[in-house]
Amino acid sequence: KNAASSNFLVQVVEQGLAEGKYASRHWSGKPGPAAQQQAGPLDPAAIRTRFPPEPNGYLHFGHAKSICLNFGLAERFGGACHMRFDDTNPTKEEQEYVDSIIESVKWLGYGWQFQNENNLYFASDYFDFLYAFAEKLIEAGHAYVDEQSADEIRQNRGTLTQPGTNSPWRDRPAAESLDLFRRMKAGEFADGSLVLRLKIDMASGNINLRDPLAYRIRHAHHHRTGDAWCIYPLYDFTHGVSDSLENITHSICTLEFESHRPLYDWLNERLAELGCLNTPLPQQYEFSRLNLTYVVLSKRKLIQLVDEGHVQAWDDPRMPTLVGARRRGYTPAGFRLFAERIGVSRSDSLIDYTVLEDCMREDLNIAAERRIAVLDPIKLVITNYPEGHSETCHAPNHPLKPELGKREVQFSRELWIEREDFAEAPPKGFHRLYQGNKVRLRYGYVIECTGCEKDAAGKVTTVYATYFEDSKSGTPGADTYKVKGNSHWISVGHACAAEVRLYDRLFKRANPGGKLPDTPEGETRDFIDDLNPDSISTIRAQVEGSLGDVTAETVFQFERHGYFVADRFDTKPGNPVFNRTVTLRDSWGK
Ligand code: ATP
Ligand code: MG
Ligand code: MG
Repeated sequence: KNAASSNFLVQVVEQGLAEGKYASRHWSGKPGPAAQQQAGPLDPAAIRTRFPPEPNGYLHFGHAKSICLNFGLAERFGGACHMRFDDTNPTKEEQEYVDSIIESVKWLGYGWQFQNENNLYFASDYFDFLYAFAEKLIEAGHAYVDEQSADEIRQNRGTLTQPGTNSPWRDRPAAESLDLFRRMKAGEFADGSLVLRLKIDMASGNINLRDPLAYRIRHAHHHRTGDAWCIYPLYDFTHGVSDSLENITHSICTLEFESHRPLYDWLNERLAELGCLNTPLPQQYEFSRLNLTYVVLSKRKLIQLVDEGHVQAWDDPRMPTLVGARRRGYTPAGFRLFAERIGVSRSDSLIDYTVLEDCMREDLNIAAERRIAVLDPIKLVITNYPEGHSETCHAPNHPLKPELGKREVQFSRELWIEREDFAEAPPKGFHRLYQGNKVRLRYGYVIECTGCEKDAAGKVTTVYATYFEDSKSGTPGADTYKVKGNSHWISVGHACAAEVRLYDRLFKRANPGGKLPDTPEGETRDFIDDLNPDSISTIRAQVEGSLGDVTAETVFQFERHGYFVADRFDTKPGNPVFNRTVTLRDSWGK
């Protein structure tokens, strides 16, 4: 039902297809990976989108929205989505990030785009084209080498209300700029001494058009091109060219790039005039970025959380990264559902974290088999049950999927039950175990509590009860017992101890690092001060014995407790480790 939902970008594509807009694209004559890609089975009239992260960090939940949008549009309209690394900044980028990003995109279910290496794109593969195009722009009088310092350039750029000032180098002869640009490439100059700028309009109302930088000098090693280059193109110079070379039809980005669109178009149009690019040119569309309560979605802040040790790593299950989500037990289907549900628009909005959690619950409710876990175990002894004996009870694996059948669980004289299921002095309305009260042990017998034993400190160590032999679930006698309470249990002799990590939100405030009240200057709190000190608690639980050799990453609903996943890395045979993904119901703030 969700697949049919629409948004403004779906409408843009539908209209473009109806007008035959993409069918007129030229698919030949362009060099590079795009030419290889087009040899594939894709209909040339199809749309192409791209997901273009900079490999300078791990992907976060915001990226998931962009991935689902870009890959989703391509999937829906039989087009292609290019996985492209925007890797033109050598000092911040690393292969480790490239690998992790690819893994996360595949994990979200878009691996079908990666049948071979040609479906992976790197802006750094276009360095030769970008350089050649820059020379053409210089020759045509559209770019010049500027010798002003970074500070001078900034000062002369003007302000929103004040036009900028032309650089004294702006009108130098093209031949002079060309010579300097070639020598920049040859490594003759130090970092920061010269830049290449586009010659547009220093008086433009749009500051992005005030002779933006195209190239700068960086004597730095690049994770893919090594030391081949000491000049690197900037984002605005690279992005539109990359889109054009790859025959992208819809270049979709977040709203803060709206004011870059005139520059995007200006550059592509000049390069098309000069014969560097074919038309029609790609078009940029903007949508509002994902903002989510209780998390931070900025690489800078995420890096700080890791570097300062507030979390264990990028893939800490509390991190709003896709690697963190995976360890937490969040599912790709849950993310797709979330992307569908929040939709795509051009107006800023703040999404409540519970929307994401509900999507995960919805998917896990279907996906996860049920198991029993006693998180805070206390021993229950059934005094009239024979010692050394055990018998089989049957528990359904999934109430919504009877085809998954039932599994056998063993009942015996000594059981683990939840500490909270027994009360010495029951509060009003308490229907579970207290002396003289009857409850049903789920899938087993009805018992009556006869008392308890305590240690010297007054802490209850053992609960005692008797059972009713004719009350077993599934037998004719079961219905004659009317009890209000229902407790889950595991036979002590058949249980397995497990480490369980109960995760809560990483931040205690809905807007970490938000505005301080009554501060006209708009001062903000330090987001670190908003960390939730109780975002993790690690406990020893008792789980069904069969979970002793659980496969890592298997998800379960532990009845009454919520959804849990066997930790991807820490689960070992005989030593299961479970992470709580999400509780059964939203309990936050109640
Ligand atoms: P950050 O601001 O966290 O550093 P970024 O935008 O710099 O993120 P990129 O690697 O450049 O990160 O992003 C890749 C793509 O993901 C871009 O197209 C960007 O628009 C998109 N994206 C990033 N953050 C969000 C978000 N919060 N919501 C939706 N899309 C996002
Ligand atoms: Mg970016
Ligand atoms: Mg950014």
